Amino acid sequence: MASMHIAYIGLGSNLQNPIQQVTQALLELDQMDNSYLLAYSSLYQSSAMTLDDNSEPQEDYINAAAKVATRLEPLQLLDKLQAIENSHERVREKRWGARTLDLDILLYDHTIMETERLTIPHYGIGQRDFVLKPLLELKPNLKMPDGSMIASLLEGSGQYNLKKLEWRSLGE
Ligand code: AMP
Repeated sequence: MASMHIAYIGLGSNLQNPIQQVTQALLELDQMDNSYLLAYSSLYQSSAMTLDDNSEPQEDYINAAAKVATRLEPLQLLDKLQAIENSHERVREKRWGARTLDLDILLYDHTIMETERLTIPHYGIGQRDFVLKPLLELKPNLKMPDGSMIASLLEGSGQYNLKKLEWRSLGE
């Protein structure tokens, strides 16, 4: 039997009822084959990243992080996450464009990999407080594969008006 791995997933949405998109995606992570949802963070609201000052204004994002135990290998996990994204009718318009659902593999055990389809740890992990804060809520002493503390990345990360939302249980 394939061995169990721990993956941390970042979730984001800013279209078509983002709170519902993210909570629904958490349920779908729990139902994924060969995987279990072990923990999920609070929901956070953040301002959209834009490419430049002339970009169209975008709705705020809802972000969260999830900890998943999985027997899937990294690329198999990416396939499953992309199937979930597609089932949320994500419209892939442009980089940093509005999106119904974005699922990123932030960490996968202590794996470091860089292939055409998949970079782990995720390249944005240290740059965005809306990724780091939910992730650290799950495990404050979480480390990068090189042993450095994820919490130490917060100081240099971009700030996106992050607000933690009032608790809502899944399915409400
Ligand atoms: P984005 O539009 O920023 O969500 O980028 C999506 C693309 O990033 C996908 O086509 C993936 O193949 C690629 N990608 C590279 N590394 C990762 C990762 N760690 N998690 C999710 N997608 C990734």
